[in-house]
Amino acid sequence: MKNGQVELKDVVSLCKRRGFIFQDSEIYGGIGSVWDYGPLGVELKINVKKQWWKSMVYDRSDVEGLDAAILMNPETWKASGHVGSFQDMLSDCMGCKKRFRIDHLKGKDCPECGGSLTPPKGFNLMFKTRLGSVEDDAQEIYLRPETAQGIFVNFENILNSSRQKPPFGVAQIGKSFRNEITTGNFTFRSREFEQMELEFFVTPGEDEKWYDYWVSERLNWYLSLGIRKENLRIREHAKEELAHYAKKCHDIEFLFAMGWSEIEGIANRTDYDLKKHAELSGKSLQYFDSASGEGYIPYVIEPSGGIDRAALAFFVDAYRTETVRDRKRTYLSFDNRLAPIKVAILPLLRTNAEIVEKALKVRDDLRGDYRVVYDDTASIGRLYRRQDEIGTPYCVTVDVDSLSDGKVTVRDRDTMKQDRIDIAQLKTFITEKLVLC
Ligand code: ATP
Repeated sequence: MKNGQVELKDVVSLCKRRGFIFQDSEIYGGIGSVWDYGPLGVELKINVKKQWWKSMVYDRSDVEGLDAAILMNPETWKASGHVGSFQDMLSDCMGCKKRFRIDHLKGKDCPECGGSLTPPKGFNLMFKTRLGSVEDDAQEIYLRPETAQGIFVNFENILNSSRQKPPFGVAQIGKSFRNEITTGNFTFRSREFEQMELEFFVTPGEDEKWYDYWVSERLNWYLSLGIRKENLRIREHAKEELAHYAKKCHDIEFLFAMGWSEIEGIANRTDYDLKKHAELSGKSLQYFDSASGEGYIPYVIEPSGGIDRAALAFFVDAYRTETVRDRKRTYLSFDNRLAPIKVAILPLLRTNAEIVEKALKVRDDLRGDYRVVYDDTASIGRLYRRQDEIGTPYCVTVDVDSLSDGKVTVRDRDTMKQDRIDIAQLKTFITEKLVLC
């Protein structure tokens, strides 16, 4: 434990052992800061995305969804400023040859060996690739470093095809790529990652009000999904920290073992992006307000979160250990909506064919809307510990009595309290407890 949180090395180990996250192409020695989500990790990520989409799109009527492509016309990145200024300033150590981001350095010398550092130089974080089959004629393009630009270039399409007018937003979830220089801290800083971004278009002059609204909405989203208040904070960017497009920015930070770190940024992007795209494309990109008879380019408030960082924060925050009857118990106290597996069906005696048959029937009746697993590969004590460690909220045990009284035992992960429930009532009992979206 560090900073009251589980250390990332323990998270990495549990994630690998139980199938949440693996190193990408591990059999070849992996590739720097790229990760694969295993059977449980993919469920956790799907659940985070579902909750974000629910709160951003389904619970509202002023937001539309979008799924834009990763590859875009390279003019996009000229207009957005990414070709010119999406870079980190770097210094190399002349002694140990290690490379450092200037904004991560505390002193003038190498933090590793104390050697002298080279003068800072810029390094663009965008991955380049080529479009087309002929090398010579090929057009150099980029893998998108943020999903937001897909929304800006579709602004007119969405305005024309939906019934929305400012204030309204466009939500998008998708992969982004950054050739990060200083990596590490597990999935926190990956070169391929997923973002969940909302661009909320407002009338200029109303931007400050909407900005405050989104900062508080987004903070509440993390709290409502179970992250403890003391592990979240909001930090305003100082002037010199602001991105080239931002008038104001607040980060939502989570207290990881390595210290407070950004999991989401909320920025007032003003009319910067739409204006730049209008200039370079020659399209107007204005909203025409028929009431006033005037057109204007809306301001944009952007809550931009990372799914990998959110999933990691939910994981770290849920990690608990306690001693029960002289034995250490580790469990992930996920909110039910985020838990990868909702219910595990466990037969008390795997050698009893009738119990096994009944347990499999219980599993078949329950599954369909969420992940239900059956496990008979160990003693009941070990099976409970295995499910605790992956955060399964309910274990259902079928025993000899179940054959005569038609009841099963439902065990709660956090309290370990056990209830005897009629099999006929089980689905209703579990569904009410899960409160799924
Ligand atoms: P940092 O300062 O940590 O590099 P950033 O300020 O560049 O992050 P933004 O451009 O604001 O990040 O991106 C929005 C969100 O996307 C971040 O809050 C984070 O959750 C996620 N994100 C950005 N870069 C990465 C990355 N390399 N790996 C995982 N998630 C990332």
